[in-house]
Amino acid sequence: MLLKDITNFLESIAPTIYQEEYDNTGLIIGSFDKKVDSALICLDCTEDVIDEAICTKTNLIIAHHPIIFKGIKKLNNKNYVERIISKAIRNEISIYAIHTNLDNIFDGVNKKIAERLGLINGQILFPKNHLLKKLITFSPRNHTNQIRQALFDVGAGKIGNYDQCSFNTSGTGTFRGNAYSNPFIGSKGVQQNESEDKIEVIYPIAIENNILNALFKVHPYETIAYDIIPLDNHHPYVGSGFVGDLPNEMETLECLKMIKKNMATSVIKHTGFHKSKIKKIAICGGSGSFLLSKAIEVGADLFLSADFKYHEFFDADKRITIADIGHYESEQFTQDYLLEIITKKFPNFATRLTSYNTNPVKYLV
Ligand SMILES: [Zn+2]
Repeated sequence: MLLKDITNFLESIAPTIYQEEYDNTGLIIGSFDKKVDSALICLDCTEDVIDEAICTKTNLIIAHHPIIFKGIKKLNNKNYVERIISKAIRNEISIYAIHTNLDNIFDGVNKKIAERLGLINGQILFPKNHLLKKLITFSPRNHTNQIRQALFDVGAGKIGNYDQCSFNTSGTGTFRGNAYSNPFIGSKGVQQNESEDKIEVIYPIAIENNILNALFKVHPYETIAYDIIPLDNHHPYVGSGFVGDLPNEMETLECLKMIKKNMATSVIKHTGFHKSKIKKIAICGGSGSFLLSKAIEVGADLFLSADFKYHEFFDADKRITIADIGHYESEQFTQDYLLEIITKKFPNFATRLTSYNTNPVKYLV
């Protein structure tokens, strides 16, 4: 199998265009056309994980956190990042990161946490905008059904729980081909008035190439008229964090105990119990303090996340209970999720979880 078979699959689930601006998701070391026969999954690509890959003759590491975030100007083995990069290159080990793009999709890191807590009515906490566009095209009337269906088949026209959504109006199109043209209808040099349908469909920008390829393939005209319009709409299924309800409200202490158990964490740092009962829980795996105001805004009783600084706990302002369960702890099951989807898609590809707990933070309990 080629590396790109795996990366194309992962990016069909979590397109890299969904990553945050500061992130460095994608293939960090390696080439897409390289043959790969096994993969090691981890949250953090540490030196231990590289050594494990070398010992087990694994030539691909799939990590949640990118080993390279910013530009590196020298490779002198002076710190762990430089040593890992050198070792990976020397041993022909590819490193791929699937990070905030996996955080930001609906079926991603945060929904998996919500499932572990048994939440219902789950939705994205802070949906992103500028991820949707509208395609408008004009079709000769007897080709309209075929063109519309071709667009639906590659994912256009999905809105919430509905698919095959479009708007269609009928009118008259005009065109005149020059001496070099070869018109599908009418004759060159003569203005043609043609009964046409205007088809409008919405689509996520992540699949724009597929949408346009489908249009170009099925539309009969030599030159196809179409408009692409960027939309300001929020994408309801792509964004930061997650929010959902407990099936039954719980006492705050009981809720924290449940979180501790279900998220397999030994310590939870939390604010005071400003609400005695918890029903709505907001979630952000990893560093999530940037979403605190959003969690308060949607009426969450508790915000489960990590990496809160001392002063940020004050921002709960007695309106929400913050539960900081630890960065690694909040994301640890991301590895299992990656293993599950890759194994399901490529059952004969040897994919394993690292045997190391890569959490750099230890607790004396
Ligand atoms: Zn993280």
